[in-house]
Amino acid sequence: MTVRPLDPAVIATDRGADRPTSFEDIFDLLDAIRPAWHAQAACRGQTDVMFPVAEHGRRLDTSAARALCARCPVRNPCADQGRTERYGVWGGTGSGSGRMSQRERSAAIRDVVADGEWHSTSDIAQHLKGHLSTVHRSLVGLVSAGVLDVEKRHPATYYRLKDHT
Ligand code: SF4
Repeated sequence: MTVRPLDPAVIATDRGADRPTSFEDIFDLLDAIRPAWHAQAACRGQTDVMFPVAEHGRRLDTSAARALCARCPVRNPCADQGRTERYGVWGGTGSGSGRMSQRERSAAIRDVVADGEWHSTSDIAQHLKGHLSTVHRSLVGLVSAGVLDVEKRHPATYYRLKDHT
């Protein structure tokens, strides 16, 4: 089978004329759009290890994935990308919402609301590139701690820094 060289720009603008027609084509396309640092990843081909699944009733075991990350030369760009990924181990950090620590998230929220304006949960989550439910939990904590004012305006809830002058 002949594998055509693919230009992602052509595919994006003219899908009907130049659509991937085989798995080889699709893999070529994925290689073309992959960040360069992927080539040095210590976890290449280790998808099962990097996206562990917890057995029923047991804690998720990420030790094998973290061991790979510990000797990986591209931890920094990987960790950056992982901040927006929901699943898997990235840059040696655990899955999903725990990636940004609670303290870091609280500090980032304070930065967003430092202007004294009201901000919705989704606005704040967008600034943090975080998941709504995770950001919401942090917001509730900051309200309880007396750091933020909260106001429900259907359909959204808004927050601002308390006593901002
Ligand atoms: S830091 Fe870990 S997850 Fe990221 S590329 Fe390296 S081995 Fe893979």
